[in-house]
Amino acid sequence: MPKKYHIHTKPTPLNLEYLFKFRIVRGDNCINCGKCTKVCIYEAHKRRTDDPRRMAEPNTVVCRNCFRCIQECPRGALEKSIRRDFSSAGGAFWKPDMLLSLWKQAEDGRVPVSGAGYRGPFTGSGFDSMWTDMSEIVRPTRDGIHGREYINTSVDLGRRLSHLVFDEEGRLLSEVPHAVDIPIPVLFEVPEAGLEANVRIALVKAAAEIGTCIVMSAGEISDGLAGYAGNIIPRLVPAEIGTYRSNIEAARLVAIGHSRSLVSDFPRIAEEVGRISRALIIVRVLADRDVEETVVRLALGGAGIIHIVADWCGREMGSYAGSRRALKDIIRSVHARLVEKGIRDEVTLIASGGIAMAEHVPKAMLCGADLTAVDTPLLVAVGARIHEEPEERLILPAELAGIPVAALAQRMVNLMGAWHSQILEVMGAMGIREARRLRGESGRAIFFEEVDKDTFGRLFRSREAVGT
Ligand code: SF4
Ligand code: SF4
Repeated sequence: MPKKYHIHTKPTPLNLEYLFKFRIVRGDNCINCGKCTKVCIYEAHKRRTDDPRRMAEPNTVVCRNCFRCIQECPRGALEKSIRRDFSSAGGAFWKPDMLLSLWKQAEDGRVPVSGAGYRGPFTGSGFDSMWTDMSEIVRPTRDGIHGREYINTSVDLGRRLSHLVFDEEGRLLSEVPHAVDIPIPVLFEVPEAGLEANVRIALVKAAAEIGTCIVMSAGEISDGLAGYAGNIIPRLVPAEIGTYRSNIEAARLVAIGHSRSLVSDFPRIAEEVGRISRALIIVRVLADRDVEETVVRLALGGAGIIHIVADWCGREMGSYAGSRRALKDIIRSVHARLVEKGIRDEVTLIASGGIAMAEHVPKAMLCGADLTAVDTPLLVAVGARIHEEPEERLILPAELAGIPVAALAQRMVNLMGAWHSQILEVMGAMGIREARRLRGESGRAIFFEEVDKDTFGRLFRSREAVGT
């Protein structure tokens, strides 16, 4: 049995103000009985250090919304409400609860408790309109999460053969292409936006710590990162291959941006990279209207790893806002086109843009991706704030430059530790022990649009037919 993959998490609070969801006010009718200190296991209520006879202001940062203090206060002295600045953070995609959850997961690497008493809608857009089939939740495979059976989250990147050829004596004639194996179906990416050097280094260190790779502009790879060459995927354009020769030499994977001429140029580019190293080439493709055709042409032209890049809210690129497809639908459509062409098994598909929560990873894979890539959640882990309105902005705290790399990297590792635990939970509940088997298993998911169409489609078609 292979050694169990484990991500080492460690509580790493940052002395930064992030989003607070709740405001708790202690009224004048408080009699300082101290009951709230006993019932709040998160220690939101404490006595004043200078005068222990009186209660201190509630520490709402740690509040987990259990309402016990409110219920148990004999005087009804506590009042709880949602802060206005919390509701206005994020936006339609990066919901404030999602940001707060990422921040808390980065704090200690624990799986957040959510869903208790949930009264909201049971569907939404993008990944929120699909559910995974958890029918195996009571079956023995669940033991694998915590002990007896091994659940393997590793995936391979590389071109695969459609079939093997043997000679008459049973000797293998096919040359099996090499692949890169990573222990979790998540790559890191350094966003285009300028980052402080310590954040960039922390991203690289965190990627190395959990055994994955990070895509970063070749021009940003400093000499100080030489020890992490095996985890860095230099991102460049074909004309830069000569310039970044040493980075390619040291790398296991190289990311090349797609251009119109890339399909016809791919064999030449692959040969050029091949003369420098054995690094495998990832072709980055924008998730636009034509993404299916682009991916098929690249796959038929020999590309082994194709990275579909949606925008940071998981939407199609370059279309009118109202008609943008969600990443979920784009992946399904690309996967289906490759299956139709009979070449799905030969290529590795990476999906990114709007992979914002742990559940998005297995969901993207069920839709047809082999793995995912993330950037924004890693920045939220270190305090990035997001505003989608009135314009899309990602704001990094000014204090970030002064925070040690080790603390930033540990928070990113913690976040991935929490995500890994959640991926294991989903796989265990689905009875799937190999992450590779998640790919394209859309039969193990329920899609709201399909249920809606099956249930109400005929009714609405008939209404349209009679012109009502
Ligand atoms: S339980 Fe109520 S009355 Fe007692 S200390 Fe807390 S807020 Fe005050
Ligand atoms: S609501 Fe629960 S978690 Fe929040 S302060 Fe009260 S007892 Fe603590």
